[in-house]
Amino acid sequence: MKAETKHLVRERANYRCEYCGLRQQHEPLVKFHVEHIIAQFHGGLSELSNLALACFNCNVYKGTNLAGIDPDSNQLERLFNPRTDDWQESFEHLGARIVGKTAIGRTTVWLLEMNSDERVELRQELLDAGEQL
Ligand SMILES: [Zn+2]
Repeated sequence: MKAETKHLVRERANYRCEYCGLRQQHEPLVKFHVEHIIAQFHGGLSELSNLALACFNCNVYKGTNLAGIDPDSNQLERLFNPRTDDWQESFEHLGARIVGKTAIGRTTVWLLEMNSDERVELRQELLDAGEQL
């Protein structure tokens, strides 16, 4: 992938993870990854319409997954797509936790382990420091 393309993705995302919303400045030691929404493994292209910025944790847990099981309904559901889905419609913050508002949101929160202890702790520290999530 061209450096210029990666730069465009980072700027478009305003240097925030497009899944959990974490800002790059709050995880300075691990550079956020420009990831394929539809993984290359599944034929996804390295085009801006298929790229998103993801923090280390979201990127690792998402892997090549395109879908998961909605923990409420036990139904197969696709994952959140930062290019075509609206974050505010899919997720909300409940204190330091991220809650899915839709089946897509719930599935993505669960699969990407957005509410693991360490991630909730980091968000709580940011909130305590007066930061906006
Ligand atoms: Zn993230």
